[in-house]
Order: sequence, then C-alpha cells, then structure tokens
Amino acid sequence: LIAMKDIAKVFYTDEVETHALSGVHMDIKKGEYVSISGPSGCGKSTLLSILGLLDTPTGGSYRINDVPVEDISAAERARIRNKEIGFVFQAFNLIGDLSVFENVELPLTYRDGLTKAERRDRVQSALERVGMAHRLKHYPAQLSGGQQQRVAVARALVGSPSILLADEPTGNLDSKNGEAVMALLDELHQAGSTICMVTHDPRYADFAQRKIFMFDGRVVDEETLQRLRQEEDQRLDAQIARARD
Ligand code: ATP
Ligand code: MG
Repeated sequence: LIAMKDIAKVFYTDEVETHALSGVHMDIKKGEYVSISGPSGCGKSTLLSILGLLDTPTGGSYRINDVPVEDISAAERARIRNKEIGFVFQAFNLIGDLSVFENVELPLTYRDGLTKAERRDRVQSALERVGMAHRLKHYPAQLSGGQQQRVAVARALVGSPSILLADEPTGNLDSKNGEAVMALLDELHQAGSTICMVTHDPRYADFAQRKIFMFDGRVVDEETLQRLRQEEDQRLDAQIARARD
C-alpha cells in the first residue's frame, strides 16, 4: 500500500537548514496498524504530512498503491489525497461554521458522481460507526472534545480512504476520551482499516501491530532509541552541572 524509500525533508528558514527527515524507509501493508513514536521534534508530524500528501519530500521516492507520488502536480496530489487518505489531527480541525453533518460531508463534495442521497447515506453511516449519528445538526462548539474527535474520525472515514493517518489523536483529550478514541481506532482496524498513528504515549502505541520509533529525523529500533535518549539525558545533565559551577 505504502512504500517510502530514502525519504528526506529539509526545511530552509532564514538561512537555517533543518534536516527534519533523513533516509526514512517505510512500508505499510494493507490492513496494518502502525504507530510512530519518538521525542518532540524528531520528525513524526513531518513524516505524517508527507505520508498524507500534505507536504512533499525533498528527496527519496514514495509510492501509494504502486503509484509514484513524490513529484506529481499539486492538482494530482490533491486528487489522490482526497481518494486515498483520511487524516485525524490532535486539534480535531473541524470547521466551526459547519454542522456535524456538513463537516463530515465536506470530503465527499470534492468527489464526482455521488448524488445528494448517496452522500447523505455515507455521512450517516460514518457517523454511526463513531457513535455520533445523534448529533447531526450540532456545531463543533456544542460538542465535547471527545465527541469532536469522533466526528473528525467520521470525516476521515467517509470517503473510504486506503489509509487513516492520525497525528496525536488523543493529545487534546482527557484519559477517558483518549481511551475511547483508541478503542474506536482499534475497532476500525479490526474491521479492516489501515492505520498509521503518531503517539508519544506508550500505552496507546501498544494498540498497534507494529511500532516504529524515530530519533532526530531517522527511523531507529527501540533499543537504539533508548540508548540515544539516555545519551541525550547525560549530555543535558552535564550541561546543567556545568551551568551550576
Ligand atoms: P512533536 O512531538 O513535538 O509534535 P514532531 O516529531 O512531530 O514533534 P516535527 O513537527 O515533524 O516534529 O518537526 C521536525 C523538525 O522539523 C523540527 O526541528 C521542526 O522545528 C522542523 N520543522 C517542522 N516543520 C517546519 C517548517 N514548516 N519549517 C521549518 N522547520 C520545520
Ligand atoms: Mg508533531
């Protein structure tokens, strides 16, 4: 489904180069549930944006369903994104002026060949899957955080994407609602969805079949991550000790 080879991303800001990703290889198979964890700033969101065709890499190759997508036109990228990708963000990102129904319908309005009745049925069943079909006419501000995130999951699902990408989907939720959203993702995975989720909570990473760890723009194994983290801690401790002297 997803095949990334040697992906690099360099950001240029005011003459400063940030190597956000270097040499990232990643494959995700249909039906897999993958988690990505690692320290703040290690490149998780950057990787997810590239996976989700919201951003382009500065190097490497990327195929979705065997179609190369690293240097296609913006219009083609938007078309493939709309068809293949569902995105869930930490901050829900629902549109405040639109009702629950309209928010979930939005991705379908870019699809050709769907009648109004077909759109309504799809929205209805996506909202049923996340347990929010009783709130069609509410506006995001009238929902709890957990409910907003469930609506955001419905919006991500409504177009039947090949893969669901979630960036810290529980980051703005209390633990009860966080667990409910995780249970929902787990259910979707059981029902056949392919999911890639960024989380820094090890309890939530345990829901995934396969865990990917990152450090400083690279994919590393868990032991390497522990070692690099310890080394970083020691460097910080030494720095603090020097500052005290
Ligand atoms: P967190 O856990 O805090 O969300 P992250 O792993 O998601 O962190 P990224 O947001 O991917 O980290 O950022 C990786 C690096 O790239 C950081 O050093 C960040 O400052 C840099 N970066 C991200 N986006 C941009 C941008 N648009 N312009 C310049 N630098 C950026
Ligand atoms: Mg991030």
